[in-house]
Amino acid sequence: MRGNDCRRETLHGCSGAYEEKGRIGSSRERSDNGKGMKVIVAKTAGFCFGVKRAVEQVYRQIEEGVKPIYTYGPIIHNEEVVRELQDKGVQIIEDEDALDSISEGTVIIRSHGVSEHIYRKIEERGLHIVDATCPFVKKIHRIVREHGARGEQVVIIGNEGHPEVEGIKGWCPGPVQVIGTKEEAEEFRPIPGKRLCVVSQTTFNYKKFDKLVEIISEMSYDEVDILNTICSATEERQSEAREIAAKVDSMIVIGGRHSSNTRKLYEICKMECGNTYYIQTLKDLDLRRLPSIGCVGITAGASTPNILIEEVSKQCQI
Ligand code: SF4
Repeated sequence: MRGNDCRRETLHGCSGAYEEKGRIGSSRERSDNGKGMKVIVAKTAGFCFGVKRAVEQVYRQIEEGVKPIYTYGPIIHNEEVVRELQDKGVQIIEDEDALDSISEGTVIIRSHGVSEHIYRKIEERGLHIVDATCPFVKKIHRIVREHGARGEQVVIIGNEGHPEVEGIKGWCPGPVQVIGTKEEAEEFRPIPGKRLCVVSQTTFNYKKFDKLVEIISEMSYDEVDILNTICSATEERQSEAREIAAKVDSMIVIGGRHSSNTRKLYEICKMECGNTYYIQTLKDLDLRRLPSIGCVGITAGASTPNILIEEVSKQCQI
């Protein structure tokens, strides 16, 4: 018998998107450039709850005069914000080797979270920890630790090498495998006699997660616990982007080059709207490629500051 007893749970209570002045309610439609160009800005575009919380924690440390301040990896995938923080003295610890050379100061753990052994290492070096791991990511750490401790095999649906996925792996006490593609799911062979626990990277594409889970469940002879830990902020952002992209003439996706959630947004929008453009800042926007009439949609990844979204939106209306 294959794929029996699949229990599915969703990461509830993850409201994700935060409310910000002028960003509440449905997507904002603007049509005021006198040329008939309409601009639709996704209400879910920009900082999510976890990213906003992490960035605020860094600024709080700066305001309190804490020195030196380090972030374990760039606090968010946005070069502008990271540069601004570096100008204020915040240094980035790139990896474990770099951590080994630090003997004093405060280390801020970003929203992606880190492996359990990184906490131990920071403590052993006598450094102060400010933990800005998103609570929804923390919840995944708890799940994999508990299920792993019960002897289960953990499967993370996500992208190997992504910092959040690496962090989750580091909380698994037993066997763990990362699956991010159909091919990887088809090649996957569960360990006989072990119950499976499947979780997902918080920013994974919901439809893709479902497809991969279906393949994995069919491979398993034993029981499977499927925990959909995709953050609702991601789901909401992706479905709103899809909805807007399907009805506009051009679509602009704003976000950092290394932001995987922005890349996924771009892929989703591109499937719905051939004229989809991925930009990091206003400088990358080539207005000549946009139609002078019609409708332009704008969305942005979870690490994109509101000011960038506003700048692009204004520019499209000039
Ligand atoms: S997208 Fe990630 S960081 Fe943002 S609220 Fe969701 S889990 Fe937290």
